[in-house]
Amino acid sequence: MSFPIPTLRREHGRLVLEDSPLDDIAERFGTPTYVYSAEAMTASYRAYHEALSAIDATVCFAVKANSNLAVLSLFARLGAGFDIVSGGELSRVLAAGGSADRVVFSGVGKRRDEIAYALEAGIRCFNIESTTELETISELASGLGRSAPIAFRVNPDVDPRTHPYISTGLRGNKFGVPISDAFELYRRAHAMPALVVSGVACHIGSQLLDPAPVAEAADRVLALVDRLAGAGIVLDHVDLGGGLGIRYRNERPPAIGDYLAPLIARMGGRRESLFLEPGRSLVGNAGLLLTRVELLKQGEEKNFAVVDAAINDLARPALYDAYHDIEPVHADAAESRRYDVVGPVCESGDFLGRDRDLAVRSGDLLAVLSAGAYGMTMSSNYNSRPRAAEVLVRGRQCILARQRESVDDLMRGEHPLPAD
Ligand SMILES: *Cc1c(COP(=O)(O)O)cnc(C)c1O
Repeated sequence: MSFPIPTLRREHGRLVLEDSPLDDIAERFGTPTYVYSAEAMTASYRAYHEALSAIDATVCFAVKANSNLAVLSLFARLGAGFDIVSGGELSRVLAAGGSADRVVFSGVGKRRDEIAYALEAGIRCFNIESTTELETISELASGLGRSAPIAFRVNPDVDPRTHPYISTGLRGNKFGVPISDAFELYRRAHAMPALVVSGVACHIGSQLLDPAPVAEAADRVLALVDRLAGAGIVLDHVDLGGGLGIRYRNERPPAIGDYLAPLIARMGGRRESLFLEPGRSLVGNAGLLLTRVELLKQGEEKNFAVVDAAINDLARPALYDAYHDIEPVHADAAESRRYDVVGPVCESGDFLGRDRDLAVRSGDLLAVLSAGAYGMTMSSNYNSRPRAAEVLVRGRQCILARQRESVDDLMRGEHPLPAD
């Protein structure tokens, strides 16, 4: 089977991303390093853009999936909008050349300073998730003499049939407001002079492999939009969130166009424009984590390949029991054995892959595939491990998108006790 990363191939046994051999990247930038393909990101963005060409639509990249400035500026230049969940993410978008008027702000716990910052910046929409937030935004907007464009993030109560930790649209989770309460909330918002009621939003979950639940959510959301219009509350956009899944192993996610077809069919001929908030499907299979085997270890029951990347670099295997394909950078004749690929961190959950048949020796390079989304952004400094470098590949060009952290970076802002 081909690699899940479309711009990755083997040439004379050596893994090459676009036109850049991975061993050259490891030589130049060290390991562990996240490596991204600009071409793969561009292709997935264009697939959205082209599929949506018949309707008025904005693709807002979900910044939390990959917030590196080089990645954000690539999407800004392609014309993307952005879905943010914090003031920090808004700063990143603006620093990367994104424009505030294409930014939607999601999240259940927006702080007052973050709301004020977003109001000053002039973002496109606040996706409100509670009554308290409605009141806070109204109060802050009037105080600042600004009008706040708002949508409610409604919880349409459809089952996205994905991992429970990444399912967000069911009753009983913390996100959004119940769709049954939404009509009353819109009436309240409509009467608040500092607010402009602009749209409605929903996001039912992540790594969705079936287009049906989103289409079902769209039906429920559009029924609400029509009911609101009947009451004189006219919305200008419908935000159907992100969530389209990708292939990690042998999943068969719908092609972007097929996933969108039922949504486009529903939006065609309507007055509202469509917003989408894809994260994983734009960047997940545009990235990999390059790591080096430190040593091979024979345990009593298992063999371990101990590598220089760990749970702090890529949390998904431990957090979601997620599978990432692991490929040797050099395919050679070494004997294949079954390994758990583990990091050096003091946690039994510190693994990148289990029971993998690999032909490796100590010192070899491995590529952990499909790591472009929720990889670096979920990384930490656990065990005082400086975070990985990030490199963006464009053909033969390898741009250092984020320098590897140093130990000084780790301790910045900390102070030992003052002298007695
Ligand atoms: C996480 C998130 C997204 C992006 O989800 P993907 O599965 O990466 O596409 C979009 N919108 C909201 C509100 C989110 O929380």
